[in-house]
Amino acid sequence: MDINTKALKKNAFRVTKKRGITSSRIRVPGGHLDAKYLAKIGEIAEKFGDGSVHITTRQGFEITGIEMKDMNEVNLMLQGLIEGLDINQEEEGKGYPAAGTRNVTSCIGNRVCPFANYDTTAFAQRIEKMIFPDDLHVKVALTGCPNDCLKVRQHDFGIIGMTEPQYDSYRCIGCQACVTNCKKRATGALKFENFKVVRDHDKCIGCGECVGKCPTGAWTRSEEKYYRLAIMGRSGKKNPRLAEDFIIWVDEESIKKIIMNTYEYVREYIDKDAPGGKEHIGYIVDRTGFQEFKKWALKDVELGPKAILKDNVYWSGIRY
Ligand code: SF4
Ligand code: SF4
Ligand code: SF4
Repeated sequence: MDINTKALKKNAFRVTKKRGITSSRIRVPGGHLDAKYLAKIGEIAEKFGDGSVHITTRQGFEITGIEMKDMNEVNLMLQGLIEGLDINQEEEGKGYPAAGTRNVTSCIGNRVCPFANYDTTAFAQRIEKMIFPDDLHVKVALTGCPNDCLKVRQHDFGIIGMTEPQYDSYRCIGCQACVTNCKKRATGALKFENFKVVRDHDKCIGCGECVGKCPTGAWTRSEEKYYRLAIMGRSGKKNPRLAEDFIIWVDEESIKKIIMNTYEYVREYIDKDAPGGKEHIGYIVDRTGFQEFKKWALKDVELGPKAILKDNVYWSGIRY
């Protein structure tokens, strides 16, 4: 059977080490799905695969051991899953229209975790709807607080949830649990002065630890949601490195605009001769210089008054 491997990969199937055998990659934006879809994945694995499923590093599933001749039928069976997970699609019954832009991942967020400053899955799904499908190799990840359980600093865009804690002195009994906790687990941004707790905004990383520790509810999360946007982290052979902060106390709309602007920047500057037509964004930024990236990324972005934008960003990492 003649196989167009480029089309196969675009359709989220994989070229495997075994001739004629492929695997199907299932994306789950925000890493959360109704349990009924697990049964559907199992059904495809039993019917067309080798009866097993790999859980991917990007919170998806890979159904292994599929014969390439069965790809169309697998795509038909995937339809319910694609619709159920609300994945953008170009043609019904044809599976995934692209695989370049990776599944948008997130930690479990405030649906479950008491430390989370927002609904990570919902934000991940909003970003997924905005950027998928696209062939550009972009990785976005979200984490609910600076604990960064999802390791978002290994991504092109790492979004870390923040809150600006609100203090109600009338509820405070002066136990200082928040002060001690901030010192031990965060940055020591709180002090107890004149029978009140005082917060140093410059030292505060918006983690929300104080909110969780206060026995009387004197600290609450701000209604406004804020984020720390770290950019251009990556793994790989050339120069793996952690993402560095670009904007702190930034809002959701600005982040979404910056990501969309970055796609335009990449289309303008990508090295068309790069192996496999792929050049990761971070390497493009290395080539054009950060200031050029910044100019494109911030086009028509109106940052809120609290946002702190870095003049310059420097990355280090490992050089093999
Ligand atoms: S990163 Fe924070 S919010 Fe997300 S799971 Fe870890 S502790 Fe919870
Ligand atoms: S933990 Fe709550 S009650 Fe105790 S000092 Fe802090 S704000 Fe006041
Ligand atoms: S949000 Fe975190 S860093 Fe800021 S005051 Fe509370 S515990 Fe400290």
